[in-house]
Amino acid sequence: MSGMFDRANRKIEYLRISITDRCNLRCVYCMPEHGIPALHHEEVLSYEEILRIVRVAAAGGIKKVRLTGGEPLVRKGVTGLIREIAAVPGIEDLALTTNGVLLSKMAHELAESGLKRINVSLDSLNPGRFKELTRGADLATVLDGIDKAEAEGFSPIKINMVPIRGMNDDEIAEFARLTLVKPYHVRFIEFMPIGARDMWDETKVIRTEEVKDVIAGLGKLEPVGNKRKDHGPADLFRLPGAKGILGFISPVSNHFCSTCNRLRLTADGKLRPCLFAESEIDLKTPMRAGCDDDELTRLIGVALSVKPEGHLMADGIKSKYGRTMSKIGG
Ligand code: SAM
Repeated sequence: MSGMFDRANRKIEYLRISITDRCNLRCVYCMPEHGIPALHHEEVLSYEEILRIVRVAAAGGIKKVRLTGGEPLVRKGVTGLIREIAAVPGIEDLALTTNGVLLSKMAHELAESGLKRINVSLDSLNPGRFKELTRGADLATVLDGIDKAEAEGFSPIKINMVPIRGMNDDEIAEFARLTLVKPYHVRFIEFMPIGARDMWDETKVIRTEEVKDVIAGLGKLEPVGNKRKDHGPADLFRLPGAKGILGFISPVSNHFCSTCNRLRLTADGKLRPCLFAESEIDLKTPMRAGCDDDELTRLIGVALSVKPEGHLMADGIKSKYGRTMSKIGG
């Protein structure tokens, strides 16, 4: 059998890399108002170190890489990194998740660098609310960035929305309607117990079933293709006649651990086998101490061997863990 398998015999092919813990937004549910102490420059993996890990991981069987953060577009030289990762033998798919604030400025150079796919996190289509929710961002700038990305040929563009009761749940239908006119994948992600600590409680979670009930008012949801094979954790549907696709990601109500094929690399060089488990394998310290690629491969194997079969979030267990999504890489 070629490739990397964890102890539950899941084939691990996907590496999400947080290239910075810094973010240019302070979304209310993700981060505290004054942010979280930033890593010192030397604590963050250099691009050379990230590339080395990607090469070793790709030799082991990683095929898909996603760059995230923090906000990946705030790190200088990101397009150079994209170019290099895109050229690593074995990497078949390279994508990036962004809040879209810098997209209008960077869409062109991102396209030129070889990036093919972009996910934009967007939680409101109302300018005043968007500003409040992100603590200061301008909606028009983000929407302009999405338009530019579309014009540059990024496909599909995925828009990720986290509906939270009392915050933006009255916009679910409007987000779904976007797919009637645009070829986007609009994905609704259940609010997870991680991030700004005081914000999460179970009553604020809008579960997928509830989101679907709201959207049912727009038309019958037609299932699309093989959800897990190509599209990760999202269940995919289309409204009649729509150009785009609706995706539902249900980490709270129906966790998808049995099909989880990912590892995460934090900005400070820890390999994290599960978003919701505390174990992390330090790659940075051994690399800086001069370890060879065989040792790196062995450490990746350790991460596979401790990847939990499932997490406890579906049982309503609130995360007690120290890192926010911005620190882990959402
Ligand atoms: N800055 C980039 C962005 O905004 O897409 C990448 C990092 S951000 C932490 C990644 C994603 O995590 C965003 O889509 C955000 O909505 C999501 N996120 C953060 N906290 C979350 C939570 N408690 N539940 C669900 N999604 C969350």
